[in-house]
Amino acid sequence: MNVRLSKGGIVGARLSPTQLAENFADLHPPFDRHEALVESDRCYFCYDAPCMQACPTSIDIPLFIREISTGNAIGAAKTIFDQNIMGGMCARVCPTETLCEEVCVREIAEGKPVKIGMLQRYATDTAMAQNKQFYSREASTGKRVAVVGAGPAGLAAAHRLSMHGHNVTIFEARPKAGGLNEYGIATYKSTNDFAQAEVDYILGIGGIEIKHDRMLGRDFSLSELTADFDAVFLGMGLAGVNALRTEGEDATGTENAVDFIAALRQAEDKAALPIGRRVVVIGGGMTAIDAAIQAKLLGAEEVTISYRRGKEQMNASGYEQDLATANGVVIRHWVAPKRVLSEGGKVTGIELEHTTIEGDRLVGTGETMVIEVDQVFRAIGQSFRPKVLNGSGEATAFEGGKIRVDAEGRTSLPNVWAGGDCVSLGEDLTVSATAQGRDAAESIHRMLTQGEAVAPAMLERV
Ligand SMILES: Cc1cc2nc3c(=O)[nH]c(=O)nc-3n(C[C@H](O)[C@H](O)[C@H](O)COP(=O)(O)OP(=O)(O)OC[C@H]3O[C@@H](n4cnc5c(N)ncnc54)[C@H](O)[C@@H]3O)c2cc1C
Ligand code: SF4
Repeated sequence: MNVRLSKGGIVGARLSPTQLAENFADLHPPFDRHEALVESDRCYFCYDAPCMQACPTSIDIPLFIREISTGNAIGAAKTIFDQNIMGGMCARVCPTETLCEEVCVREIAEGKPVKIGMLQRYATDTAMAQNKQFYSREASTGKRVAVVGAGPAGLAAAHRLSMHGHNVTIFEARPKAGGLNEYGIATYKSTNDFAQAEVDYILGIGGIEIKHDRMLGRDFSLSELTADFDAVFLGMGLAGVNALRTEGEDATGTENAVDFIAALRQAEDKAALPIGRRVVVIGGGMTAIDAAIQAKLLGAEEVTISYRRGKEQMNASGYEQDLATANGVVIRHWVAPKRVLSEGGKVTGIELEHTTIEGDRLVGTGETMVIEVDQVFRAIGQSFRPKVLNGSGEATAFEGGKIRVDAEGRTSLPNVWAGGDCVSLGEDLTVSATAQGRDAAESIHRMLTQGEAVAPAMLERV
């Protein structure tokens, strides 16, 4: 990757349009039929399939791989979609290296797992290219369910509810559906507007209406939803971004990594996006890695990730860390931001303090260093904003700052379920949000059709 211009400060057009197109191409070009057949042949079709147990949506992996190996890619796609209607996006964005592929017996035996993600993409892309719809709606139940948020959790819930014959209305704050699939996932993981193609595919079942620019807590309240609908599913993700709480962080040139990534995802002309020559990203998760790599791909010359703990403690997987360094990103461990330096209100540098563990506490050593920068991205986590619910005048139980739910996604409020990043169940991943949306939909369906009592007391089991 050659840098065409070497302008200081935050400017656009660091690279030519051709270079940008090359840099933001598909991270892993998809398998063709031959490659898929060869790879599927590597699967042992294990009877206990550890890969399947590691998948949060429990896709029958050996079965779909077997279907591919017999030339039945459409059948394979159905096997995947039966469990995970976002199988196409998950094939692109799942950290398979810490899920199914990590436990694949071929990974354990020879360090080379079956490429499950790539095979899943081959099957789902084949079906979606033909707009092969596998599901039709059961007879209408006449029940109405409100879903808040059209991200992976909300869409998965809506699809499963519609399949069962319920009418679904999704209230979505943003102008486009897809949640972070549309506004967050790295551009090179989801190319050619795949997120919108997937939304259209999911909505193809019918019975789902999306009302855009409608925000819970601003345009309507939760108590209005519970009064108007038979059930409510909350899938609003995490709207808040954690602050650095570091001196000088308001200087121009310091911004949230998620905002930078969203702007990049929505940019019609990437060359017009302003990017610094020297960039520092603060954080240790997927967002930090994605922001750093994409800053580099946009033409930043020096990109550094600063993380306050060691390599092993980073939330980003080893594979993602390697991807960043392969793209020329420098990762500095055991340093924490102390001060953002600026001149005339613009960022000029960042002072980092070395850190260490004392007892069980992370502490600064007092030793500092300064990196000259023109842009700083904060990627130190997102948080749930309970205000949207409190504004509804409802008493929702929380756990760890997120909505408390039981294993079926039931909240402490009658007839209100929740899933995805906004709840207290485990990892913040696309696949987990999809699984939680699907499972909550099944629970809602049981309540609507069998009248299973849903009392807050059930949460005593949590
Ligand atoms: C930068 C970034 C990169 C990521 N990369 C990956 C990756 O590579 N792989 C992976 O598996 N996971 C990744 N994740 C995590 C993954 O994107 C999330 O776990 C997943 O999108 C959560 O889905 P969700 O439906 O719960 O929430 P979201 O995707 O956040 O969707 C929530 C939806 O609700 C809407 N909404 C919010 N508030 C309201 C309101 N008050 N009223 C109405 N609508 C509202 C939002 O506009 C949004 O559309 C990434 C996350 C980030 C931030
Ligand atoms: S663990 Fe690996 S080899 Fe075994 S069924 Fe799963 S993908 Fe195939």
